[in-house]
Amino acid sequence: MTTQALLSVAEARDFLLQRARTNSQKTENIHLMRARGRVLARDLVANRAVPPHDNSAMDGYAVRLADVQAGVTLPVSQRIAAGRAPQPLAVGTAARIFTGGVIPPGADAVVMQEDTTANSDSVTFNAGVSLGKNIRRAGEDVEKGTVVIPAGTRLGAAHLGLAAAIGESYVDVLAPLRVAVFFTGDELCEPGETLSVGKIYNSNRYWLRAVLEAQGCAVRDLGVVPDSLAATRLALADAAATCDVVLTCGGVSVGEEDHVKHAVEREGELALWKVAIKPGKPLAFGRVNKADFVGLPGNPVSGFVTFLTLVSPFLRKRQGLPDNTLLTAPSFYKSEFTWGKPDPHRTEFLRVKHAQNEQGETVLKLFPHQGSGVLTSMAWADGLVELAPGQSVAVGDMLPFTPFPW
Ligand code: AMP
Ligand code: MG
Repeated sequence: MTTQALLSVAEARDFLLQRARTNSQKTENIHLMRARGRVLARDLVANRAVPPHDNSAMDGYAVRLADVQAGVTLPVSQRIAAGRAPQPLAVGTAARIFTGGVIPPGADAVVMQEDTTANSDSVTFNAGVSLGKNIRRAGEDVEKGTVVIPAGTRLGAAHLGLAAAIGESYVDVLAPLRVAVFFTGDELCEPGETLSVGKIYNSNRYWLRAVLEAQGCAVRDLGVVPDSLAATRLALADAAATCDVVLTCGGVSVGEEDHVKHAVEREGELALWKVAIKPGKPLAFGRVNKADFVGLPGNPVSGFVTFLTLVSPFLRKRQGLPDNTLLTAPSFYKSEFTWGKPDPHRTEFLRVKHAQNEQGETVLKLFPHQGSGVLTSMAWADGLVELAPGQSVAVGDMLPFTPFPW
């Protein structure tokens, strides 16, 4: 492929996914307490059943089925609280048992205490009972030997609880993908600094770090790099030496002050250059030493949309996540707006909000300023609508809406 080829959005996404290596990641064995949000490296197999013993689902009396009918009174032969080992149940007796208490050998049902009348050392049953009633069976939740959590799962609250339930204190997780970021542009200042003429604040740094960290990447932030070939080459080499992926913002167009393309060509290889995407278009992809390189356009909305639609699937696969989708499959809703100026050649992502109209239908509203630098559109919107090249929109058209993942 030449570096000048114009790729469709789908081609660019496939191209990036094909190049997302997944086998190069190290693993770490970490305590469960620190594992939230990490990606499981190996299937987690249960070495024991959950629950480990047959136990009572109720406070009541463990009995032999044959001993119990309505009106029968039995002596209480033992008391089984949760956490205590029971004695075998003597024939013709009942065992007082509490929720979670281990079913004594010989018992085959639990009568809940609400169906009994307790006497000083005996109990009278108000009704009969059926086999297995109120008994939680060993292995009912997890059978020994089963895969409880498959490799590639990002560990959420329930997964951590389940891993604890099978007794695992340490889990093997993928080492976080190390992503170096830097931002090109002599115009960039950090928020908090005073702006002099011609300067702007480095907004890309803040959303980009946020979306990377939310995806579980370990971010190395090299800050702003001046618009010079030498500085860009130095930053690239430094970033590539310590990280798995180098991600840059700005400087990937063809202007005299755009040095990223040339710097990557000198330090490594550049494989991809232009994508038929709006907002967006310039996207650099390549390699510097052993690191993958991705160069996002500098315009904030271009960079953001390009990141969500193309780069985040690549990073997810690169992280070993099985689904590769940060953006979920679209839902179709009615448009409440018109769009009469479609781009004939590029797939367009409009910033929209979904809302209920007076008839209770979900409709899509368009942010009025769709410029590639208008970050307000991203903050106002709650998702994107994808339009094919040349697709205009009339009120009432059903459009594919993809919610933002935050
Ligand atoms: P570039 O891709 O470097 O040509 O930049 C395109 C536009 O995005 C220019 O108007 C830049 O000033 C702006 N821009 C580049 N980087 C950033 C950044 N980190 N934060 C905000 N705006 C930026
Ligand atoms: Mg620039």
